[in-house]
Amino acid sequence: VLRLDDIRKSFGSTQVLRGISFEIRPHEVVALLGPSGSGKSTLMKCVNLLEQVDDGQIWLGDTDITDPRANQDQIRSRIGVVFQQFNLFPHMSVMKNVTLAAIKVHHWDRDRAEARALELLDRIGMRDKAGAYPDQLSGGQQQRVAIARALMTDPELLLLDEITSALDPMLVGEVLNMVAELKSQGTTILMATHEMSFAHDAADRIVLLRHGVIAENGTPREVMDESQNPETQEFFAHFR
Ligand code: ATP
Ligand code: MG
Repeated sequence: VLRLDDIRKSFGSTQVLRGISFEIRPHEVVALLGPSGSGKSTLMKCVNLLEQVDDGQIWLGDTDITDPRANQDQIRSRIGVVFQQFNLFPHMSVMKNVTLAAIKVHHWDRDRAEARALELLDRIGMRDKAGAYPDQLSGGQQQRVAIARALMTDPELLLLDEITSALDPMLVGEVLNMVAELKSQGTTILMATHEMSFAHDAADRIVLLRHGVIAENGTPREVMDESQNPETQEFFAHFR
């Protein structure tokens, strides 16, 4: 689904990504872990074309999305994205929020967009909230709506960047349950998270960033339980 080939990215003199290569296969859930500032969000923004890479290639299927001639809107319709917070427009209803990009960016007609939105809201038990505004929803419900919106165009890949870290601890579970549900339906997911036990139980693979390179890439067990690397062990010790 996705292949990163020697990705490099600097901000000024700070080299954030210093040669990142890995692959995500269909239906895989990959947890992207690493200390704060290790470049997880930067990497995801490069995949979503919010940042331009300095060097290297990113392949989405057969498309080199780092090619400046690539069709950016089309690529974005193939990737769903949810961030930590501020995902929904506060002055728009849930329905408007979910359908906006499909209508404005991808030129769906309204009926098609609304039918698809209702189907997705139904799936997350929030069909009755279609007319509600974001401030009438809990943070967990807002993030579930944001995930539903990201799924509108049936993307090949879902990028989730710390989607639970701004939530009350009480609300984290319902959002993580939804991610687990998507996994069981076969959705391909790259998620940056600090929820280590979720990553351990739900991810097929862990990619651990450190100092701008990939320090570990393996199953949760290999990386989190069995790594002999002292820096890796120290990183996970913080979360026990
Ligand atoms: P966190 O776990 O806190 O979310 P992260 O792994 O997502 O961290 P990034 O947000 O990718 O880390 O940031 C990596 C580095 O790049 C940091 O040093 C950050 O200050 C720097 N950085 C990110 N975006 C920019 C930018 N637009 N301009 C300058 N520096 C940036
Ligand atoms: Mg981040």
